[in-house]
Amino acid sequence: MTSNHGLFDRAQSVIPGGVNSPVRAFGAVGGTPYFVERAEGPYVWDAEGRRLIDLVQSYGAIVLGHAHPVVVEAITEAARKGTSYGAPTPNEIELASMICDRVDVVDQVRLVNSGTEATMSAIRLARGHTGRDRILKFAGNYHGHADMLLAAGGSGMATFGLAGSAGVPAAAVADTIVAPYDQIPELDDEIACVIVEPVAANMGLVVPDAGFIHQLRSECNRVGALLIFDEVITGFRLALGGAAQYWGVEPDLVCFGKIIGGGLPIGAFGGRGEIMANLAPLGPVYQAGTLSGNPLATAAGAAALSLLDEEAYVQLEATADRLASGLQQAFDSAGFTAKVPRVTSLVGLFCGEQLPHNYDDARTTDEEGYAALFHAMLRRGVALAPGAYEILFPGLAHTDEVVDEIVAAAGDAAAEVVAAR
Ligand SMILES: *Cc1c(COP(=O)(O)O)cnc(C)c1O
Repeated sequence: MTSNHGLFDRAQSVIPGGVNSPVRAFGAVGGTPYFVERAEGPYVWDAEGRRLIDLVQSYGAIVLGHAHPVVVEAITEAARKGTSYGAPTPNEIELASMICDRVDVVDQVRLVNSGTEATMSAIRLARGHTGRDRILKFAGNYHGHADMLLAAGGSGMATFGLAGSAGVPAAAVADTIVAPYDQIPELDDEIACVIVEPVAANMGLVVPDAGFIHQLRSECNRVGALLIFDEVITGFRLALGGAAQYWGVEPDLVCFGKIIGGGLPIGAFGGRGEIMANLAPLGPVYQAGTLSGNPLATAAGAAALSLLDEEAYVQLEATADRLASGLQQAFDSAGFTAKVPRVTSLVGLFCGEQLPHNYDDARTTDEEGYAALFHAMLRRGVALAPGAYEILFPGLAHTDEVVDEIVAAAGDAAAEVVAAR
């Protein structure tokens, strides 16, 4: 049988660091990554045949559980008809309509291939619409890896302690202002847009004050800047209508990714028709993609969204609650210092005494404690994300029994970590 170790060696000879996205290399937690052979429901099986309860769930792209039969069937049926045409397809209308129907502020949506493309294009659109160059983002919010957004980025950047990235020219971030999260910035009329994770999920889970999101809307209105919600994680997870519905605030543009592709590569950005009309071919803002609106991705996404009804969100939240309260209790009784925040179906894990409110707070997380817990959990067959700044992704396939197994493993794992320290 192939070993994870052998695969990692081979991978490292042909792929930089052996991975196609940095956090996967286990740099932050140490050790050798497990290579996934297959997955089903809440489980993944690694190359050594080991079954793990998976709380990574493709960093939130999966919500129905792995290899959900309805999604697999939709992909299979689409694949038989061809994999890409370079011409419009009925599937695209289907997925776009589902997004527009479910998210009030989105009249029109354009499909792209990743969350990175969605935020990058939404910012170009905001700049084109307002005729302004400057943008504002919040420290610890992650919006993918476009140059202008690679400042104080959260997620993998936090994991590797990077403030920005080599290879990003000073000019590319010259018009990017970085402000502290959960604090209203003072804007001026040179700002094209403010982009925000309406619940931050890439510096652990940081739930802002409701007033922050509401006042951000008014501050943008005051200076004529667009408000962009990056809902690549919160979209179709925080609530059926995403964070816009949850907070009761209308952003001008919304970015999606992850869930809307049912596990296939996708992204989308949308908003009011009047703003979206600036996009080519209607308007002067260029945006394009050879594989955009891909028939497999749109079929998988539509299948996934079709199963996400009100009932699904009730179940999702109950599962998240069972997990969050179970973990908190397990850590408390083991004397392991950690907080397990939750908002609807989003669950965080912060190794520290006090819940963080911003990036500075979030970076006080005990990374060594997290790494120790991570490995103690992995030895017990539970996969957390290999980085202290990611969140947990309970989904519809995590039954109460599975959640209870995770909680029992966490109790043992935490006790082991505390004893070893
Ligand atoms: C994952 C993520 C992105 C980037 O999406 P990719 O598909 O990885 O490019 C952007 N914004 C947020 C909030 C994300 O979590």
